[in-house]
Amino acid sequence: MDRLHWLQMLAAAWDAYPLEGCGLLIGAPGGGRVERFVTIDNEAGSSRIYRLDGNQYARAALDADDEGLDVIGVMHSHTHTAAYPSPTDVAEATKPLVPPDWHWVIVSLAWGFPELHSFRIDAGGGIHEEPVGLSI
Ligand SMILES: [Zn+2]
Repeated sequence: MDRLHWLQMLAAAWDAYPLEGCGLLIGAPGGGRVERFVTIDNEAGSSRIYRLDGNQYARAALDADDEGLDVIGVMHSHTHTAAYPSPTDVAEATKPLVPPDWHWVIVSLAWGFPELHSFRIDAGGGIHEEPVGLSI
């Protein structure tokens, strides 16, 4: 991802704090390169869980579709724990309708400085960290 998107994700995490922040990664269908990051309100209004606002999600997905792009992943923040998928995150990622090739970006603010990691989560719940590949 570009440094711009990396910064936007850290900003989304800080902006939502003390609640969990979240957003969508937009890119070429099935691709791994983030073309845009869209901040989405955390409908759950919680510091422990997130739920993407349904209307904003639908709008972002439609906008992406108009550009020939797709939702390729989700970012959310952890306010008290490491930037690593929680059991709740794994349960969410392995739901039947969730595309198995999504990228799961987690920003942790647990230590006073932001830390960002990206993961793939396979259908069996296996967690695989992937390089973020910062550019520019
Ligand atoms: Zn989480």
